[in-house]
Amino acid sequence: MAENWNVVGGGATGAYLALEGAKRGHTVTLVDRNPTVGGLTATEQFTVNGQTFDVDRFYHVIMESDEKVLALLDELGLKDQVRWTSAPAEIINHGTRYPATSLVEMATLPMLKATDRARIGASIAASLALPMPLANRMTAVSWLGRTAGRSALEAFWWPILRAKLGTQANQVSAGFMVSTFRRLVQARLKGAGDRFGVLPHGYAPVFAAMLEDLEARGGTVRTGVSATAIHHEHDGVDVTLDDGTMLHGDRVFVTTPGPVTAQLVPQLTQTEKQQLTAAPYLGVVCGTFLLEQAPNDSYITYLTDDVGLTGVIGMHALMAEDATGGAKLVYLPHYCASDDEWFDLDDDEVGRRLLDALRSCFPGQTITPVAHSINRARHVVPLPLPGSGEPLPFTTSVPGVHVVGTAQNTTGTLNVEGSLAMADQALAETIGEKN
Ligand SMILES: Cc1cc2nc3c(=O)[nH]c(=O)nc-3n(C[C@H](O)[C@H](O)[C@H](O)COP(=O)(O)OP(=O)(O)OC[C@H]3O[C@@H](n4cnc5c(N)ncnc54)[C@H](O)[C@@H]3O)c2cc1C
Repeated sequence: MAENWNVVGGGATGAYLALEGAKRGHTVTLVDRNPTVGGLTATEQFTVNGQTFDVDRFYHVIMESDEKVLALLDELGLKDQVRWTSAPAEIINHGTRYPATSLVEMATLPMLKATDRARIGASIAASLALPMPLANRMTAVSWLGRTAGRSALEAFWWPILRAKLGTQANQVSAGFMVSTFRRLVQARLKGAGDRFGVLPHGYAPVFAAMLEDLEARGGTVRTGVSATAIHHEHDGVDVTLDDGTMLHGDRVFVTTPGPVTAQLVPQLTQTEKQQLTAAPYLGVVCGTFLLEQAPNDSYITYLTDDVGLTGVIGMHALMAEDATGGAKLVYLPHYCASDDEWFDLDDDEVGRRLLDALRSCFPGQTITPVAHSINRARHVVPLPLPGSGEPLPFTTSVPGVHVVGTAQNTTGTLNVEGSLAMADQALAETIGEKN
């Protein structure tokens, strides 16, 4: 039976859920507090050397194993736009640059002792065999220290953990490593190669096409308006909006970050709210820099020295020469806790810190930005900590209220593929219908 659905949050999860609902014949309204949809995959516009172009606010690559993302792009007629390429990676250790494109290259880094190299391999094998319940009881650092040894941990694993998790790298559970390794192995088993896919205009055309399809199927999109409360009433669910209006429907899918969702739905039980807020979120303050010249030709540069920068993401290495007005697109992320002091710094200060850090990594090189912007996300993904409990189920104790979002991600690794997979799983569990 056709229903009225409201979807709160227009990131990848919400937009996909809304479109899937409309495809199933439901009347769907998608609401996002920002002026444009996209959430973490939203884009921004730059003009450089007279050329105007969109890029993601936060860098995104597509893997060849991202089946759901590629299927969505295919359905929207955008799959051919993906630019597939491979690019090197490097690691900067105490000011010296080393190639680090493959795990083999990384495991044979000159600063590693022969015993460290063997133990790195052993730590990967041991992680793949480690049962998840056990992995979730200890920190990744203690597990890797035990299996790989202290010097390999410091020279090899720690930079990788810090590049991914920033200042919270020492808290995360070993389950994070286990799920990361398993995802890499599964990608290999599915025959995925070493190529990265990039959408030349970021995710903007994907959202434009999704919304066009949603509206063609009778859906409505409301942006620039926040949900302030969600209540179950006797004949459905009410979503109160901050423009004074209210949406009424049979169901609501809430795709906002856990702490936001816990506040939005006061009828959730204390236990449910606890499930949404227990794990600390990883946040990111990220600079998008268009540089006259790239500091290197790597897609990712890992940094072992603590310079305030979690890594250097050279998106230019994956993009066409002429995509960004002749400038080189580099992202400088500072991953941190969601209450880190960096969130309170103004853009000028963040930009100065990030550029200083970049220059300290590439001394002697001239690094000249032609344009830049600073973006912040306090709630990227919850960090799996040792002893974390079960995530909130998609169907809550509040009738008609479904929670589907990053709050239920228990792996600590976030990607659009995982968001779409979660949305599909939520639909299967809550609605049970197929297209
Ligand atoms: C730095 C970075 C790099 C990444 N790199 C990759 C990558 O290379 N490849 C990849 O596949 N993925 C990557 N990701 C992950 C990807 O961006 C996420 O998986 C995906 O965007 C999550 O989507 P979501 O809809 O679940 O969450 P979000 O995008 O967070 O969406 C939540 C939405 O809720 C809205 N909202 C919040 N509160 C309210 C309210 N009160 N009322 C209405 N709306 C509200 C927000 O505005 C937002 O649009 C990266 C993410 C980051 C931050």
